[in-house]
Amino acid sequence: MRPWADLHTHTHYSDGADAPEEVAERAAKLGMSMWAVTDHDTTAGLAQAREAALSHGIRFLDGVEISAQFERHEVHVVGLGIDSSCPELQALLTRLETGRRTRAERIAAKLSKHGHSVDLDNLGANDAALGRMHIARSLHAQGVVKSVQEAFDRFLNPGRPAYVPKERATCMEALAAIHASGGLAFVAHPGIGSLRKALPSLIVLPFDGIEAYHSKHSPGHTEGFITLAKEQGLLISGGSDCHGRAKGQRPDMGTVRMPLAYAEAIAAELGS
Ligand code: MN
Ligand code: MN
Ligand code: MN
Repeated sequence: MRPWADLHTHTHYSDGADAPEEVAERAAKLGMSMWAVTDHDTTAGLAQAREAALSHGIRFLDGVEISAQFERHEVHVVGLGIDSSCPELQALLTRLETGRRTRAERIAAKLSKHGHSVDLDNLGANDAALGRMHIARSLHAQGVVKSVQEAFDRFLNPGRPAYVPKERATCMEALAAIHASGGLAFVAHPGIGSLRKALPSLIVLPFDGIEAYHSKHSPGHTEGFITLAKEQGLLISGGSDCHGRAKGQRPDMGTVRMPLAYAEAIAAELGS
């Protein structure tokens, strides 16, 4: 079997279901060679993940996935090889964290108008990670909805009664913070949603690469993004975007296996 890498995964430090150690164990069982944790807007799980990766002999890149705004699109910017002690990066992440808390409070207020109460301090999430997923799990645990997905469909998605938009960085702010910390910046999952249309104007920004591999990309998508990256002199990245058993799903890890050579090229560019 070809050696492979997964450079897009989540832990319970953001909206993933599992601790970094559990994710590392899953990666080891699947025979992964290089791994990155890219939690949403937080670097809190990286030290633990790195240690777990090393204990399994898996190479590890410190990552983050920043939610950013570009024109009218939500763009996720993945940073790889970041230094989480960088003050500029942490300043941005702290601003987004405060926004998460405020957003959760507004969602909870809307839910209470519908007779449902959610105790934000007992969701098992710190403010850096607090998101709709935790609120959805609480509604499910309380028996308000039959599944976590139903909580999104009935209450939490755009157009539903408890939807509140997320506080986002601008794309340029995300890129600047990632670059200040010594990392490389990638357009996350460009095949999802409205992003494909925005991609030509997006890659004019100082991105270092794009995610060609993703569990929601068809083989055709992946091929197209690889071609585009090569034409534009961009690095190629990607991964499963595995959230563990979140949303009651089977973990996505292993369903998409990026050839290790692409990850090696990223590591070489990072000088690691
Ligand atoms: Mn997520
Ligand atoms: Mn994403
Ligand atoms: Mn993700």
